[in-house]
Amino acid sequence: MENIGFIGLGIMGSRMARNLQKAGYALTLFNRTKSKAKDLLAQGAKWANSPEEVVLDCNIIITMLSTPEAIREVALGKNGFLEVAHTKSIWINCSTVNPSFAKKMAGKAKEKGIAYIDAPVAGTKEPAEKGELVFLVGADIDVLARLNPLMRIMGKKTIPLGSIGQASHMKMLINLLLAQSMLAFGEAMALGKETGLTEEALFNVLLNVPVTAPFLKAVRPKLENHDYEPNFPLQWMQKDLHLASLTAYELNVAMPSLNTTKEIFAQAKQNGYGEKDFSSIYDYLKTNNANDNF
Ligand code: NAP
Repeated sequence: MENIGFIGLGIMGSRMARNLQKAGYALTLFNRTKSKAKDLLAQGAKWANSPEEVVLDCNIIITMLSTPEAIREVALGKNGFLEVAHTKSIWINCSTVNPSFAKKMAGKAKEKGIAYIDAPVAGTKEPAEKGELVFLVGADIDVLARLNPLMRIMGKKTIPLGSIGQASHMKMLINLLLAQSMLAFGEAMALGKETGLTEEALFNVLLNVPVTAPFLKAVRPKLENHDYEPNFPLQWMQKDLHLASLTAYELNVAMPSLNTTKEIFAQAKQNGYGEKDFSSIYDYLKTNNANDNF
């Protein structure tokens, strides 16, 4: 069986690691904040004091970190793992990063004889907990075959998308649609309420017409109950919009509505919404559109 080093035990990583542990895999863990590893350690996982120490006994390294900067730090920074990881080990990066960053990391890994797998996931806290994520994967077919058993534990589906970077491209597009759908719905509701229509009527009708993104039905209870406990923190949505914007620049594609969306999420983050669920953009719009503000 593979020995797995898991780095990044936030909302997603802690749940993915737990599923691997339940399936019997030996895990060595590192997280910047050690307390988040408590439950996994109590169930028998091994703690490493640095990213470097994680990889000493591992042939598979999984990272589930917030940003490209965090990944660069644990891979290439002081006590980074890449310098000391075993040749022929495999690094599966499940974090959402921009495709050019994925390619850069793949190049750095290759210099050390390590295979980098571009493996962002679709799905949030609950699918991560239930092992129902969808893996978008850029990897060679033979490496993918070796990793399939792991992905089947953490996810319900693996979609191979070709070379490194392509899976990150796809993930970026998904989140771009997710952010814009959420924002468009929030704006429609903000206007709808000022028209005198009730919130209930707006939800009942708008969530059942084909022009509205289907995922919003599942978000309704969060919006109605002002429950913005994070499944997907708004600050990481803003990061993903920034990475999409960066990629559009690299590919010379104009994305005016993406950039407007990104700035609205940036304003929400500046106003204290960063660690709330990304759906709280609804609350931000509502608060900032309240008539008594004018
Ligand atoms: P999260 O709960 O905020 O976890 C972020 C992780 O990154 C934590 O382990 C955090 O360590 C670590 N980290 C942040 N900055 C670091 C640094 N400078 N050095 C070392 N470690 C650092 O976020 P998440 O929701 O699990 O998301 C993780 C990744 O998955 C992101 O790329 C996100 O875009 C992507 N994603 C999230 C979802 C979702 O629904 N949540 C779905 C698909 C993909 P600490 O614990 O010490 O803060």
